[in-house]
Amino acid sequence: VTEGGPLLSLRGIVKRFGDFVANDHIDLDIHEGEAHALIGENGAGKSTLVKIIYGLLQPTEGTIAIAGEQVRLSGPEDARTRGIGMVFQHFSLFDNLTVAENIALVLPRDQNLNGLRGRIAEVAERYRMPLEPDREVWSLSAGERQRIEIARCLLQNPRLVILDEPTSVLTPQESYRLFETLDRLKSEGRSLLYISHKLDEVKRLCERATILRLGKKVGYCDPRKESARSLAALMVGTQISDI
Ligand code: ADP
Ligand code: MG
Repeated sequence: VTEGGPLLSLRGIVKRFGDFVANDHIDLDIHEGEAHALIGENGAGKSTLVKIIYGLLQPTEGTIAIAGEQVRLSGPEDARTRGIGMVFQHFSLFDNLTVAENIALVLPRDQNLNGLRGRIAEVAERYRMPLEPDREVWSLSAGERQRIEIARCLLQNPRLVILDEPTSVLTPQESYRLFETLDRLKSEGRSLLYISHKLDEVKRLCERATILRLGKKVGYCDPRKESARSLAALMVGTQISDI
């Protein structure tokens, strides 16, 4: 790791879908231990950008560096190997498999279910997220399903965890518990990239925020020091003096 340099550094990222520009020359730095929010209205280009960081999409232009080294992320395995994990908004779990069996599917070196059960229980305890390794997934709530996704991300010991609108499927109580888990991750020095348009969540969790509007970066700030009103104005492009 470059001393003091960012863990992740994007420069001039452009993503086009045909003629449509979903990301228009985005620069983004995420430092070790930082909780960084990516905020913007629907269609701003947030999910597209994090898919590029997780290797699910290739940028049309621009560069990605991890710990100072320029990389090409040709798929999620590449991203995971380099310490980037992602918790998905839409769950990709098999209903008729157990929690442990679902996690084993994406951890090729963890095919020993007995060992894996123990490691799931450890992660569940450490991050205070109740998980029963032998439950079949069909019987679980959205909050429990998300905990599976988080556990399988954490079992790979990521340095950066990306969460794309994680509370959109949760009850208020489940959201509260998720935030306790995220506080725990922060206290361990992991970095978070937290995508949301819910400003109360961003102000509670993050010290940095990058604001996107219609594919462009339109702001960068400490969201704890901004009013919800000024952040919202940036997201929609209203001059704050107009309102
Ligand atoms: P956000 O997550 O901020 O709501 P997205 O990154 O999902 O925004 O989408 C940004 C824009 O890019 C949207 O207008 C969306 O319709 C468009 N888009 C996203 N993915 C594709 C795709 N695979 N093909 C064409 N357009 C896409
Ligand atoms: Mg999105």
